Amino acid sequence: MKELINKLICERTLTEEEFAALIDARGQVRAYAIEQARQTAQSSFGNKIYIRGLIEMTNYCKNDCYYCGIRRSNRNCARYRLTQEDILACCDAGYPLGFRTFVLQGGEDGAYSDADLCAIVSAIKARYPDCAVTLSLGERSRESYQRLYDAGADRYLLRHETADEAHYARLHPASLSLANRKRCLYNLKEIGYQVGSGFMVGSPYQTSQNLAADLCFIRALSPQMVGIGPFIPHHDTPFAAMPGGSLELTVFLLALLRLMLPHALIPATTALATISPDGRKQGILAGANVIMPNLSPADTRKDYSLYDNKACMGEEAAEGLAALKAQMREIGYEIVCARGDYEG
Ligand code: SAH
Repeated sequence: MKELINKLICERTLTEEEFAALIDARGQVRAYAIEQARQTAQSSFGNKIYIRGLIEMTNYCKNDCYYCGIRRSNRNCARYRLTQEDILACCDAGYPLGFRTFVLQGGEDGAYSDADLCAIVSAIKARYPDCAVTLSLGERSRESYQRLYDAGADRYLLRHETADEAHYARLHPASLSLANRKRCLYNLKEIGYQVGSGFMVGSPYQTSQNLAADLCFIRALSPQMVGIGPFIPHHDTPFAAMPGGSLELTVFLLALLRLMLPHALIPATTALATISPDGRKQGILAGANVIMPNLSPADTRKDYSLYDNKACMGEEAAEGLAALKAQMREIGYEIVCARGDYEG
């Protein structure tokens, strides 16, 4: 199995069968992958960690993904949407803290027209020309992605969630398709966005073969960013009683992604920090190099509830940046004030 990791380091890819075999490895093999991934990240980024201010702009969503707490059918979700003014106030709070990337994430909320979203993006870029704007607003038409790019958006996050058609259909209603997700991701790349994809680890019905397919899809797409985190059940969804994903498998997959994509921007995600008090540290030590503290207005954070017990206080909060810096320093890393663009 160690040979497979060495092959991955040399060739930056494996066959799907090799990935599947590797994903089932335990103990020493995982530890070796993590050690190598940490060194790879250090060769690319030194001890630098980039931060992104996450602004959860709306929890209205027209979709009904079975895993997600803000799905349309969840009547217990208190819905909110932020105005342009609210969003700019979040940026005003984040800039002096050192944030140079703002990530606007939300459900698929038809209340914002393309013109509204373009106005928000261009207002942020006008006020903070030295900052990057990342969007994470789900599936849209190619024309819409183009308008947002022309308005100044730099990056787009859209996880493919699972690269297996049959598995995709067990996580989503029939109105959503893997084919359309992929169409979106390739459109975004063609337009010129820095693109992020990714998946949940331990989502219901997921197999090692599915994860191997995820790694192969990511290899083929070659995104600039990859976000993965453990699946965490939300009590008001059809998957309430399903088991969550594990810290160990998530950290191992982070390491494999780092070995595949030495220069990619890979966050230690909020979901990882939520399932374990040292999830974030373990993610960084396995090759992650980005953290996305929450910059949403304090009173809306609890309502952007994708899964139960979401961490949004302490080190996961923008106001907790000093604590986060201290935590990173303990393991020898330094949070920097920079856009942190992809440099391949
Ligand atoms: N509507 C946007 C933003 C989605 S929320 C979009 O479609 O891209 C961001 C990510 O949270 C999702 O891509 C999904 O992978 C993750 N997520 C949703 N529910 C989750 C859960 N129960 N546990 C862990 N991650 C979850």
